[in-house]
Amino acid sequence: LGSSLRGTLDSLRGKSRIDEEDVEKVVKEIQRSLLQADVDVSLVMELSDSIEERSLEEEPPAGTTARDHVLRIVYEELVDLVGESTELPLEEQTIMLAGLQGSGKTTTAAKMAWWFSKKGLRPAVIQTDTFRPGAYEQAKQMCERAEVDFYGDPDEDDPVKIARDGLEATEDADVRIVDTAGRHALEDDLIDEIEEIEATVQPDRSLLVLDAAIGQGAKDQATQFETSVGIDGVVITKLDGTAKGGGALTAVNETGSTIAFLGSGETVQDIERFEPSGFISRLLGMGDLKQLTERVERAMEETQAEEEEDWDPEDMLKGEFTLKDMKRQMDAMNKMGPLDQVMDMIPGMGGGLMDQLPDDAMDVTQDRMRNFEVVMDSMTEDELENPRSIGASQVRRIAKGSGQGEETVRELLEQHKMMSRTMKQFQGMGDGDMQRMMKK
Ligand code: GDP
Ligand code: MG
Repeated sequence: LGSSLRGTLDSLRGKSRIDEEDVEKVVKEIQRSLLQADVDVSLVMELSDSIEERSLEEEPPAGTTARDHVLRIVYEELVDLVGESTELPLEEQTIMLAGLQGSGKTTTAAKMAWWFSKKGLRPAVIQTDTFRPGAYEQAKQMCERAEVDFYGDPDEDDPVKIARDGLEATEDADVRIVDTAGRHALEDDLIDEIEEIEATVQPDRSLLVLDAAIGQGAKDQATQFETSVGIDGVVITKLDGTAKGGGALTAVNETGSTIAFLGSGETVQDIERFEPSGFISRLLGMGDLKQLTERVERAMEETQAEEEEDWDPEDMLKGEFTLKDMKRQMDAMNKMGPLDQVMDMIPGMGGGLMDQLPDDAMDVTQDRMRNFEVVMDSMTEDELENPRSIGASQVRRIAKGSGQGEETVRELLEQHKMMSRTMKQFQGMGDGDMQRMMKK
């Protein structure tokens, strides 16, 4: 699917003018991807109309090919569709979570607390769910794992009282995250309860938690919660599954809000701030966005003399894979998601090729990544460029400088070796092999 969009765009490469037929083809491909990702039909149609209109009416800037012109418009319209990230100042605040049962509120509460703690703030989770058996234990355990403050009361059955007591008990915290109960469906008592909690807590912002698999049901939920408590932002959970979360855009649209966080796993670290381009790439399939953003950015930044050397993941496949490359890869992972997805952006690298690698070849967990980054900060330029030259005495020095154990330094060097070997494997593949993979 993704490759057909790329193909369609590529067919515009030589053209300086674009005609209706060309634009229609591009728009069709995008429509197909977005509808498959559960984006609401009317939103897709709106987007299509804007792309068509702008592509045909706007004059491409001098020197821009028809393809770049369309790419730029497509990207801008997609960013417009998914919106910017919900503003979330790193300051004292109270955040309330709303959503149906099973959407991922409790998990998200602990994840967000973990996220704020990594930003240097002191968070606390207040669990007001008295409806679901085990809710107290679940929240408590997750908060222990996240190493954040927690308040709940398993013997109290009035959620409003728990909320009130919780605010008092967590006075020392900077960020109070109030978890609420959900139901299987929107029922009056749920709405009454959350309204009362809202009135008591008076949160600075309320976030609606939605399962990525939510389809058009997002609309009813969003309007209900919006009228009862007001929704300032959306959290999309379970993006590690097959669902791409396009349905949540309906909620964003209905509530005039934005997306705040994405959840992609069951552990407390599996959370990231929403970021438009990463999410768009999820919606469309990675390869396309890579092409989109690269093109668009190049066109836009041409005048800006970039100090930073331009890094293309494709470069990893040529020449030597240094620790610097590895560090960039880690940064890229932070920004774009897991490495296998980053690899998907490289033309010819998608299509299940990653599945053929040993599982741990690309596995650098976030905790290890952070340690590795600290270690790398204690290395010299030369060591980063030539990790093979690092001997035992250097390992000792680096460990001491970074405050990490020598085994972490050695682990990093091991990881680098392993990744380097993986890259070699790719290099070893001829173009013919690549072509065959792409056709798959
Ligand atoms: P709540 O009823 O809204 O509080 O939802 P929970 O936080 O209890 O989550 C419901 C289920 O979804 C639990 O089994 C969670 O482990 C799971 N879950 C929540 N977020 C995610 C996620 O991002 N990925 C995956 N795979 N599971 C999740
Ligand atoms: Mg819960």
